[in-house]
Amino acid sequence: MTTFLSTHDIARIVAAHGLPEVLRRMVAALEADFRRWPEFDKVARVASHSRDGVIELMPTADAQHYSFKYVNGHPRNTAAGMPTVMAFGVLADVATGQPTLLSELTITTALRTAATSVMAARALARPGARSMALIGNGAQSEFQALAFHHLLGITTLRLFDTDCAATAKLMRHLRHVPGLRLQPCASTAEAVRGADIVTTLTADKRNATILTPEMIEPGMHLNAVGGDCPGKTELHPDVLARAAVFVEYEPQTRVEGDIQQMPADFAVTELWRVLLGQAAGRASEAQVTVFDSVGFALEDFSALRLMAALAAELGLGQPLALIPALDDPKDLFGQLALARPHRLAA
Ligand code: NAD
Repeated sequence: MTTFLSTHDIARIVAAHGLPEVLRRMVAALEADFRRWPEFDKVARVASHSRDGVIELMPTADAQHYSFKYVNGHPRNTAAGMPTVMAFGVLADVATGQPTLLSELTITTALRTAATSVMAARALARPGARSMALIGNGAQSEFQALAFHHLLGITTLRLFDTDCAATAKLMRHLRHVPGLRLQPCASTAEAVRGADIVTTLTADKRNATILTPEMIEPGMHLNAVGGDCPGKTELHPDVLARAAVFVEYEPQTRVEGDIQQMPADFAVTELWRVLLGQAAGRASEAQVTVFDSVGFALEDFSALRLMAALAAELGLGQPLALIPALDDPKDLFGQLALARPHRLAA
């Protein structure tokens, strides 16, 4: 039988454990899987592009488990009352092919993206980072803000969005978080000034230049999350040229990340190598580091497995008759008789 996890189930998991604890476990799950990177089948996601967006399939597997995510990116959706990003995913048993879990992945993607950002920042940002600029205050923003506050010690958030209602929404959600100072700003340049970390989370299907070279100060860590599709970037190429750039899965990021603007031989480092101590992270206090995040299938694999485990602990999830339960595995036709017993022969 396949278990189904709804958005309500995920919300109940977060309510039961608290968001900081779920994020903490998510980072631990991601780190454990990134450290065994060579064990996974890896492929750049399959993307179907259209005028206003993209629909993507993201598969991966180890020896025991297979997973895929369906996800879209449609920046204009919010004007029509729909989210920019919507997703669901499947976990399956490699030995038999049996799908074991069908889950929502819209909320879970926000959790795993924030947790991945924290995992990268722990390895790349200056120790002692306390302030973060958050450019783009839409659906992902509170997750990133709280992950960096609870897991990395960020105490000041400097906020900017071209839509001030988005910033007001973020402030409404986070204004009572103890120890977190929220500073709305009038521009990206103002928000970025003096920040230890800059997170870009904008959605616009074009080569936007959210961050330009004159905004960047020595030692900053840039967590660039919104540039994740061909023709959709956030950083000026000179920002990348002057920084050390870290990626998830290089073949996918070359096509989708901010580095799509750079020559094919532009040097980048895959994050898993830093986590395993095979490659250097930040080289000096003054170096500018960039995590060119696009979202990789392994992150959804880790997230699906974590949510399946947390749901099982809490007794959440509904059985789903997704695959026929056959008394005789060769008698598939007989299943039809369950619904229309008298018409089969006709
Ligand atoms: P959203 O549409 O809810 O929010 C995006 C916000 O960006 C909006 O409030 C919009 O007003 C703001 N914005 C657009 N242009 C701006 C600009 N020039 N300056 C400041 N603000 C601007 O989208 P979301 O779900 O929060 O996603 C944000 C981005 O992150 C999207 O581009 C999405 O594709 C991407 N994303 C990446 C990953 C990953 O793993 N890297 C995962 C999820 C989402």
